[in-house]
Amino acid sequence: IVRAEMFGQLTSSLEAAWTKLRKEDVLTKDNFVEPMREIRRALLEADVSLPVVRRFVQSVSDQAVGVGLIRGVRPDQQLVKIVHDELVKLMGGEVSELVFAKSGPTVILLAGLQGVGKTTVCAKLALYLKKQGRSCMMVAADVYRPAAIDQLSILGEQVDVPVYTAGTAIKPSEIARQGLKEAKQKNIDVVIVDTAGRLQIDKAMMDELKEVKQTLDPTEVLLVVDAMTGQEAAALVTTFNIEIGITGTILTKLDGDSRGGAALSVKEVSGKPIKLVGRGERMEDLEPFYPDRMAGRILG
Ligand code: GDP
Repeated sequence: IVRAEMFGQLTSSLEAAWTKLRKEDVLTKDNFVEPMREIRRALLEADVSLPVVRRFVQSVSDQAVGVGLIRGVRPDQQLVKIVHDELVKLMGGEVSELVFAKSGPTVILLAGLQGVGKTTVCAKLALYLKKQGRSCMMVAADVYRPAAIDQLSILGEQVDVPVYTAGTAIKPSEIARQGLKEAKQKNIDVVIVDTAGRLQIDKAMMDELKEVKQTLDPTEVLLVVDAMTGQEAAALVTTFNIEIGITGTILTKLDGDSRGGAALSVKEVSGKPIKLVGRGERMEDLEPFYPDRMAGRILG
């Protein structure tokens, strides 16, 4: 079995749960206590938040008690199936597609803390949408880090998508307004706006984002979060959603050795779906988030 780096630990920890049941003939109230303890431990180790783990374990237990003896299906396999379905549910069930405007350009506003991979995602997303046959434009509205504007321009050349820049002397909301105007004139399908990130959430950042959002009236407001931050990621998504209102998230660095807590917690904690995931530094490394495939990978 080839295992994803990211869930390696979680996969082997969960395996302990199935092993406990391997010698049993039926799933009973008594013999699934131990496996449930293993599942609980595995999820906590993966940095899934405690309330989420509690609900998950409860739900799996409830279902496990309910299943009778299914002929030819071993108890450990039954439990794997229940956990699989529950993991899919936890991660949002269906894949959550990007939404596009019915008329005029679709505006996608990207937000996120510094270093999470926001600028990279901006260009990755442009390439991803371009491959779907949509014309794109990126807008460099990170005025605090002049290097970010250069970085986006270079990435723009790399993926062959125009980048609207207006320097650092004017307000991000004004840059965004001008960029959108230009996109409309050029009949661009999708405008992706890169905004400033900070090391921590602060009021100035939120106020600025609110202003940019008001100016643009975006179709999508996507928070870019680093998978390595585990359950913290879910808390961050919740805060941004309350503060500015987001439509979903993009989880980056899934190729790293993150323990999986972010992927498992974000939807349940914040109510906002993970729409896309980044799994590498190359421009091609962006894909939709498929809860069922992810559950499959976790279970090995
Ligand atoms: P920003 O500050 O949020 O704009 O972050 P950047 O886009 O500059 O990215 C920060 C670093 O993370 C860069 O070195 C990127 O190459 C790297 N990075 C971004 N996304 C991914 C990813 O999905 N996987 C990996 N391994 N690295 C990534």
